[in-house]
Amino acid sequence: MKTYKYIIIGGGIAGVTAAKEIRKHDKEGSLILLGNEKEQPYFRIQLTDLLGEDAPEVPYLDKEGWAEKIGIDVNVDGEAAAVDFDAMTVTFADGEIIQGEKILLANGSHANRPPFKNNQLKGIFTLRNWQDLTAIHSYIKSFKDTKHIAVIGGGLLGLEAANSLKQSGHVVAIINRSEYLLSNQLDRELGMMLNEEMKDLGFMVYNEKDTKAFIGEDAVRGIEFDDGTTADIDMVLISVGVSPNTELFKDTGLEVNRGVVVDNHLLTNKANVWAAGDVAEVEGRVLGIWPASRAMGKAAGINMAGGEETYENPKAYTKLDLDTIQIFSAGKIGEGDVYFYDEGDEHHRLYAKEGKVTGAVLYGDTKAMSTYRKLVEANAPIEEALDSVYPFKKR
Ligand SMILES: Cc1cc2nc3c(=O)[nH]c(=O)nc-3n(C[C@H](O)[C@H](O)[C@H](O)COP(=O)(O)OP(=O)(O)OC[C@H]3O[C@@H](n4cnc5c(N)ncnc54)[C@H](O)[C@@H]3O)c2cc1C
Repeated sequence: MKTYKYIIIGGGIAGVTAAKEIRKHDKEGSLILLGNEKEQPYFRIQLTDLLGEDAPEVPYLDKEGWAEKIGIDVNVDGEAAAVDFDAMTVTFADGEIIQGEKILLANGSHANRPPFKNNQLKGIFTLRNWQDLTAIHSYIKSFKDTKHIAVIGGGLLGLEAANSLKQSGHVVAIINRSEYLLSNQLDRELGMMLNEEMKDLGFMVYNEKDTKAFIGEDAVRGIEFDDGTTADIDMVLISVGVSPNTELFKDTGLEVNRGVVVDNHLLTNKANVWAAGDVAEVEGRVLGIWPASRAMGKAAGINMAGGEETYENPKAYTKLDLDTIQIFSAGKIGEGDVYFYDEGDEHHRLYAKEGKVTGAVLYGDTKAMSTYRKLVEANAPIEEALDSVYPFKKR
């Protein structure tokens, strides 16, 4: 049985960052990074933009030979099929077993695929990895004339994906459960405005539609909604969130809630086992964002190599950039006192409770986002915010 000082399961940004960090602090300890995508690590966040490109190339994180240079093994076809945290072993599908002194769980998350009826029809996709992207591209390329593509999910990633898909020249419909798009980031007034702007840009927008079933014999030809209505659709991209890949840890004694539960040192309830990135749950939260995954990977790597690094969840904010539509949103939206700035295409909002800034939206121009992000994060007095970049007023 091969043994390593460090085993990292998952070659995403969390795993790669941890591996590089370990190497900075421990030049000798043997390390293997296990991936299962048959690709060297790449920028997953670029997949949305690449949807809109004709012949995209894998956006690798590092140049060829990066792993050899820092003296680590990378197995891109090394899917962990089982883990034993008492024996500290990882078993592969072919039965091979390796053992590690320290293990990092950085195996990410997967795209949710709700059990809609006829889910198995051809032409229904999610977008999580390079393989998904190439499958979507080849499906679109098989279209002989203009088709209707639906994106199920009116959240940030859904809108960005819809925008990229539109570059293929097909008609793109956005299917949304709420009354308006970006319902977690906008209040009703701004959300209704966004609905109209997206329609003006040529998107079909279906709000308050709960998908019930897909229609078709072999390939998808339409969607049936809960209210009995239908839409003619030739391809579907489901974009309704992600779930941490915790299945592998079932019955291992590892503490799992929504994600793998870790403390602020990224340590799990098992000795010498850390978790980082989309799979990890810190302070009761699974963030599922790139910068947090990278920061967790860094802290976990330092700690695995014997250091003492604390990780804290960053305050989340959202930035939507759809060529002509720019939106920034932070904090609690639509609650408390509201302050307005409306000038031309710019519609900005501040939200406050007990005289303190609790949320902000910049709609139309997001140049000042860092100013308002800081004000929200600091829970600054509202007077300070009213006096900053835009002259906000109560209506
Ligand atoms: C299309 C898309 C767009 C996004 N856009 C943004 C954005 O704009 N901003 C943002 O902040 N975040 C964005 N995200 C989220 C961001 O990509 C993730 O938060 C980040 O990639 C998580 O990194 P990770 O290393 O934890 O997990 P992952 O990137 O998921 O990497 C985990 C790796 O482990 C592999 N793996 C899984 N199981 C096993 C196993 N058993 N054995 C071996 N390997 C395994 C997986 O295949 C994967 O390669 C986006 C995600 C997607 C899919």
